[in-house]
Amino acid sequence: MKFEEIKRIDDLYGAETFTRYPVALAGGNGATLTDTEGNRYVDFGSGIGVNIFGVNDEDWKHAVTDQLNRIQHASNLYYAEPQARLMEMLCKRTGAKRVFFANSGAEANECAFKAARKYSFSKYGSGRSKIISLNHSFHGRTLFTLTATGQDSFHKYFDPFVPDVVSVDADMESIRKEVCGACAVVIEPIQGESGVRALDPEFVHALEKFCRKQDILLIVDEVQTGNGRTGKLYAYEHYGITPDIVTTAKGLAGGLPLGACLFFEKTEHVFSAGDHGSTFGGNPVCCAAAINVISRLTDDFLLEVHGKSEYLRAKLRLFDGVKSVTGFGLMIGLETEKSAKEIVAECLQKGLLLLTAHDRVRLLPPLTITKTEIDEGLSVLKEVLK
Ligand SMILES: *Cc1c(COP(=O)(O)O)cnc(C)c1O
Repeated sequence: MKFEEIKRIDDLYGAETFTRYPVALAGGNGATLTDTEGNRYVDFGSGIGVNIFGVNDEDWKHAVTDQLNRIQHASNLYYAEPQARLMEMLCKRTGAKRVFFANSGAEANECAFKAARKYSFSKYGSGRSKIISLNHSFHGRTLFTLTATGQDSFHKYFDPFVPDVVSVDADMESIRKEVCGACAVVIEPIQGESGVRALDPEFVHALEKFCRKQDILLIVDEVQTGNGRTGKLYAYEHYGITPDIVTTAKGLAGGLPLGACLFFEKTEHVFSAGDHGSTFGGNPVCCAAAINVISRLTDDFLLEVHGKSEYLRAKLRLFDGVKSVTGFGLMIGLETEKSAKEIVAECLQKGLLLLTAHDRVRLLPPLTITKTEIDEGLSVLKEVLK
């Protein structure tokens, strides 16, 4: 189908929730994509941090098709080998004790928030159900996670929201003011959607200490920062903290829908049978894909991510029109003189896919992007930034 026809049908039948760029991607290889009209693009977006091995990665596809040839779904009424293997892998790599599988980032967070309320209720009874999030955060589009999203622009139309969820500034004084009745604080180590803003390590350390002392759970939302994106398996490692719960999704299965909620020591036994569930969660094909992803995120691989990050950042800092370069690893924010929206639109026309994050340009390239692809993308960006 040609682009105009796809657009006509989508415009006619799709719920009008998305502002789409006028392109329909159709294929490609690695971080080089093609659209329905035969145009070629370098991909600095990876489908919003999802396709971490790019597209058409042979090894990943083999893992997926191999599972597809066995069984595509079993339900959580039965045991499934891919789930069991992935659980073990995630726990051994992080020190987590148990894992719940969901289908998306929002659902992983929803699970974490429910777990926090249950942890507190089981130990202290009622009156301790408050979830504290940070201003400028993003935690998802379900009502609970939307309530916890600390950006007012997402909150139009949908009230009443979930009670006992507050967003505060990222400083200890603001956190302390809300301590009464709190069961958890949720943070993104690097706030992605609001502009790739890394949290101050001093604040994160103080928060960890405070939460431990008050027996308030520290939930780290690694939906975007997780799975090698920042040069560590999970970004909390940059901060040297031990969370109570970690959530992740986006890159976890390299392009298939899978979320995970990781429970550490304190929360190991938080749920009992029937407390939470999901029909699709932990789908065997998605888990097989994630096993392929996690097993390939070795120390050597992560070192390469770090190297690519250093290379990109060094070049970006010297570009005309760049005011600052933010984030860790291959999660990169650019504060620019020109508007981020204009830059992204112009780059698209010249064959480079980029993202915005609030008022900044955001780069989330596939972690396997080659130096040639990086150079090609950078030359387009340099020209557009001028
Ligand atoms: C994308 C994102 C989510 C939501 O994930 P979905 O899969 O879209 O539900 C939650 N938290 C963070 C930090 C994200 O970047």
